[in-house]
Amino acid sequence: MQLHKIETGNFMADGGAVFGVVPKVLWQKKYPCNTDNYINLRMRCLLIKTGDRIILIDTGIGDKQSDKFFSYHHLNGDDSLANSFKAINISFDQVTDVILTHLHFDHCGGTVQQDKDGQLSPTFANATYWLSEAQWNNFNEPNIREGSVYFKENIMPIFEAGRLNFIKENTWLTPDIEMRLFNGHTQGQIIPLIKYHDKTIVYTADLFPLMASIPEAWIAAYDVDPVTSMNEKRVFLKEAVENNYTLFFEHDLYNECCNLIETDKGIQGGESFALEEIKHF
Ligand SMILES: [Zn+2]
Repeated sequence: MQLHKIETGNFMADGGAVFGVVPKVLWQKKYPCNTDNYINLRMRCLLIKTGDRIILIDTGIGDKQSDKFFSYHHLNGDDSLANSFKAINISFDQVTDVILTHLHFDHCGGTVQQDKDGQLSPTFANATYWLSEAQWNNFNEPNIREGSVYFKENIMPIFEAGRLNFIKENTWLTPDIEMRLFNGHTQGQIIPLIKYHDKTIVYTADLFPLMASIPEAWIAAYDVDPVTSMNEKRVFLKEAVENNYTLFFEHDLYNECCNLIETDKGIQGGESFALEEIKHF
């Protein structure tokens, strides 16, 4: 198995929205913000080569939305889905599977591409796309909170092409990759757990968007059901620390990975490190 991070660029969000009820005096010690209170977030996807499959987890924000929309989210950085694929010499057409953790715009915008005539088509022409049925139902009948973060153009061309596969429960995509379901951030978020040599690497998506989001009470204001998020985090952190899982962060600009340690203040992240370092273990 080979693992490659796929950086797709950065966007900014209000720090208070990302850290919810946690006071700024606490979170600003863990994650920097600018004078407008914005924090800079990565959209870091993960590509897995295993056997004859090439599996991509999440696709970034894409480039289909209006300049106004992108400026509102303060897109920045030089990375893109295309450049990151080029850097590892893999073409979009080689991807066999795309796991969409959920359909919020910053996770699935790169799934569908738009040509200069405005025609939409799957970016990964030969891939099977994986999504939870609960997330699909939530997308089709969004609650008042999530309606504005779902865009039909990010997924309908995949559905209409018959490429979208739904999982109803925790499912193994391969003998090494489990797709685990969580409901606090949004209904049916898929968190992939990847067995890599003797390690388990967790693609944390919006379960732990940042290393600073590890404590169970540090829940984003975006989460639709914060009490469920806290319970899910508590149970998962226990499993993760007992089994020495490595967390891989999608949104943390400063930290790619960390392991967990038990302290008298609860379970916390240890030293962070780059994915590249895991490969040399
Ligand atoms: Zn989300």
